[in-house]
Amino acid sequence: MKKTSPRSGSPNPTRTGRAKTGRATLRAKFAADEYVRIVPLHAAKPSVRELVRAELRDPFDGLQLLAAPVAKLTYRGGALLQNVEVFTIFWGKQWATAASAKALMTKINQFFTDIVTSALIDQLAEYNVVGKKIGHGKFVGSKVITANAPSGSISDSQIAKQLGQWISGKVVPMNNKNSLYFVYVDPGVVSIMGGSKSCQNYCGYHNNAGARYYAVMPYPGCTGCLGGLSAIDALTGTSSHELCEAITDPVPGQGWYDDNNGEIGDICAWNFKRVGGWNVQLEWSNTQGKCV
Ligand SMILES: [Zn+2]
Repeated sequence: MKKTSPRSGSPNPTRTGRAKTGRATLRAKFAADEYVRIVPLHAAKPSVRELVRAELRDPFDGLQLLAAPVAKLTYRGGALLQNVEVFTIFWGKQWATAASAKALMTKINQFFTDIVTSALIDQLAEYNVVGKKIGHGKFVGSKVITANAPSGSISDSQIAKQLGQWISGKVVPMNNKNSLYFVYVDPGVVSIMGGSKSCQNYCGYHNNAGARYYAVMPYPGCTGCLGGLSAIDALTGTSSHELCEAITDPVPGQGWYDDNNGEIGDICAWNFKRVGGWNVQLEWSNTQGKCV
């Protein structure tokens, strides 16, 4: 959650430096009662190896030994999205008119169609709890909306309010216990959440308004949120991060959470793999003790 600094873009910050910029500021950015639910900027990411259990680390790697926290998600008793139903909302005039927008929306929707029935969902089964089994989901639809489209910035409370109006006005489908709305805003629109801003502090987040679950995806129009990736790879990477977090922790902090490291995706931020041809983020595995 570090703001852009001279260190940004440096390919090999020291392990110590990364841990400091990553975690200390991450907690400081949020109020004590707030749970981390965001994708941090690329420069602020902790590397996976910092978070690998100490006994799995190469003791001869020559790197300074840090008292790195061992990640461990614990279940807090709240909701899980057992069979997620993703609906995408592209909210903005550019999504409606720009020449390249249609192809990009098609890709994002295809990504969700593929990924909610993929191995990425299967690997979350270790987080099943009694009476709540995580299984495949479905992509249920998409809508381009230009009415009230934000220009400049959009706060989380404005998003939550607008989502409620879209649902009550039947602009988007009614939510059920598996519904997850992904809201993509226009390039250049700054998302504001908990005193933090997209492209300064984070690249996306998920949240809830009561039993309505949603994720907000600012366009990755900055180096901190592209992380050297193409726009589509950055978008699917961030979207996969929030998808897995919304499934395992739809009410932030009430599902699977780690008080030191945040949610399932936070622990592995900016480490990716390909699933079905799509760039997706690694997710923390309690059973394997690493990002997988
Ligand atoms: Zn996150």
